[in-house]
Amino acid sequence: MNVLWLQSGGCGGCTMSLLCAESPDVLATLEGGGVSLLWHPSLSEASGPEVVAILESCIAGTTPLDVLCVEGALLRGPHGSGRFHVLAGTGRAMIDWVRALAARARHTVAVGTCAAFGGVTAAGCNPTDACGLQYDGNAAGGLLGAGYRSASGLPVINVAGCPTHPGWVLETLLALALDGIAAVDLDALGRPRFYADQLVHHGCSRNEFYEFKASAEKASDLGCMMEHMGCKGTQAHADCNVRPWNGAGSCTSGGYPCISCTEPGFEEPGHPFFETPKVGGIPIGLPTDMPKAWFVALAALSKSATPKRVRTNATADHPVVTPVIRKTGFK
Ligand code: SF4
Ligand code: SF4
Repeated sequence: MNVLWLQSGGCGGCTMSLLCAESPDVLATLEGGGVSLLWHPSLSEASGPEVVAILESCIAGTTPLDVLCVEGALLRGPHGSGRFHVLAGTGRAMIDWVRALAARARHTVAVGTCAAFGGVTAAGCNPTDACGLQYDGNAAGGLLGAGYRSASGLPVINVAGCPTHPGWVLETLLALALDGIAAVDLDALGRPRFYADQLVHHGCSRNEFYEFKASAEKASDLGCMMEHMGCKGTQAHADCNVRPWNGAGSCTSGGYPCISCTEPGFEEPGHPFFETPKVGGIPIGLPTDMPKAWFVALAALSKSATPKRVRTNATADHPVVTPVIRKTGFK
């Protein structure tokens, strides 16, 4: 299976993240899965005219283009010309290359939230008119249009994340190599369900604190970061706490609230990232499927039942009250 990878308007962080794949590494995983990288700007030796020849060969249909991966937002400015980002040495706007290649690709994959939804590149006044391949924030459309379907009949596969987890990218590519992704395997935003059908909250090491609403009040506290520190783990679709990053951690286990980087529009939450917006002391962003009245009732109940250990440790940077040692067994 041939994969072509282009980098558009982004920081390159998704490629950096991809390089963290281990056991086995990126290249061994792709090779083992029968995936051939036609070209990747950071991993390939080809440059200049050789690269142009590869792109033109794909557009002409001479070289089969099984997967077009795009990393970074698509820069449509100024005035729709795309001239803010011309592919070096070609005089042609990147968005024109992407449109031409996407028309040929068997599958089109957005690698990262910028390519999927616009991401950080589209934040603020968005002077470059950045957007995603098939979304502009929450709105379907983007560069290719809401009706775009690749040759396989699928919409753009949005491997969202800022950056993406290397496992999300590699599993997507390996699944495509096995013809293992159908429309039913994508969620309503085009994200592969194998990681997007879960919430960051699942498996979070702070779940005991969440249960008792024992909350962190400042950076480095051990407690749950939902109530005061802006954590959106109960709303963000990703398996970050089930599939560790770099084999070990995650944002929340590292002490950082989840800022829901896999969701469209995460870059402009309308409040400081590390603060929880509230009305009448109740967080606005409640868990996705929990009615507000239930949350208020349960929070009051669970706070009244919080064990001393959990309450004390929630605002400490290390466990200061350890679990009681009790005899186990039935004697
Ligand atoms: S810190 Fe965030 S992800 Fe972890 S338990 Fe609290 S709300 Fe859930
Ligand atoms: S924990 Fe949240 S912010 Fe961190 S990588 Fe996962 S989805 Fe993104």
